[in-house]
Amino acid sequence: MTNQTSQDDLPIGYGLRGRCPRCGEGQLFQGFLSLRPACEQCGLDYGFADAGDGPAVFVILIGGFIVVFAALIIEIVYQPPYWVHAVLWLPLILIVTLAPLRLVKGLLIALQYHHEAAEGRLASRSDM
Ligand SMILES: [Zn+2]
Repeated sequence: MTNQTSQDDLPIGYGLRGRCPRCGEGQLFQGFLSLRPACEQCGLDYGFADAGDGPAVFVILIGGFIVVFAALIIEIVYQPPYWVHAVLWLPLILIVTLAPLRLVKGLLIALQYHHEAAEGRLASRSDM
């Protein structure tokens, strides 16, 4: 059972745009990363949404790879003084971590909604 979406229309675009994963109209965020309590269009309760550390982990791993790889290449090829590294990589670290964080959080919440992912629970014997 899926939530009014089929396997063919994953709400990835809704998530990347920060929209409600069910209707695609309402806003998901009310601040930079904080969620609204519910969708103002369709009323979907965003209480299910818990991306946890997922967005930060993806952003750190991908952004870290980009910055470290670039710093290594620049150091090997040009061997600049250390202040050049500070001037180059500190702003790049901010760009590659803060810019995609909201996109990744929206995407993970949309996928969580689509796949009905939730915290694990123990099933009682009557459920079997
Ligand atoms: Zn909605």
